Amino acid sequence: VGVLRLKPGWVPTGRPAPITERLDEVAEVLQGGRVAVLTGAGISTESGIPDYRGANGRLRRQLPMSHDEFVTSIDGRRRYWARSHLGWRTIARAAPNDGHRAVAALRNRGHLSAVITQNVDGLHQAAGTPDVVELHGSLDWVVCLGCGERTRREELDRRLHEANAGFDAAAISVKPDGDVEIDDGAVGDFQVVDCVGCDGGVLKPDVVFFGGTVPRATVDRCYGLVDGADALLVLGSSLAVMSGLRFVRHAAKTGKPVLIINRGETRGDPYTTTRVDRPLGPALTELAARLGCPAG
Ligand SMILES: [Zn+2]
Repeated sequence: VGVLRLKPGWVPTGRPAPITERLDEVAEVLQGGRVAVLTGAGISTESGIPDYRGANGRLRRQLPMSHDEFVTSIDGRRRYWARSHLGWRTIARAAPNDGHRAVAALRNRGHLSAVITQNVDGLHQAAGTPDVVELHGSLDWVVCLGCGERTRREELDRRLHEANAGFDAAAISVKPDGDVEIDDGAVGDFQVVDCVGCDGGVLKPDVVFFGGTVPRATVDRCYGLVDGADALLVLGSSLAVMSGLRFVRHAAKTGKPVLIINRGETRGDPYTTTRVDRPLGPALTELAARLGCPAG
């Protein structure tokens, strides 16, 4: 199976896909059995967190932080934490939307056997979905690369505020990983803080950056959840990175239906019979209502 590294390389091919706006097929599969769900940034855009790709499917101007840059470059970390310090305000303030609420309703009524998310924003949990598997980690936690201790982001946020009173650059736009675009000059003399527990260890958000690896145990757990389900439903992901696409391929290979609801082409289109091309919030609300479990 090999090491799983996130790479942001895929661009849409423009190949025609079996697109529909009708939810009949998805509703039927949900009615008939237990379905595992894999969600991506597209389900959080209605909460004010833009995804990595614009309307044309192309990656936005500034590439996401890479794992290698973060662990090897002091300046890179300083730029990242300055940006992330601003982005955290948006992430911490974001509230679940209709899509998250519908997923919670479907999960709590037993239509979904598992919810796996590529998102690090915690909004599925905030909507009341239990046992969410966070494939790429969580922005709520910070990990020390020295001693391995995990601490709350809120605590780091407090320390960063103390160390950087008066720092207030204008964020151009926030990204799903809590990073933001700002002018490089705006980073100024932003002060990074280190681990308290081991006196000086490098702190990293407990998320998988591009070029980083998803923990083996998490990958295995997700394969198990897909194996235990009758079908796989992808919500709001272009499946550009292999970490999510591999579960789609696995489901297809083992003869399970793959269903996709997403605005725009996805890398998983060849594995699905139909992709529903609709905004997630309204589509999932309709779906939950049709299954007799309207979202709160
Ligand atoms: Zn430490």
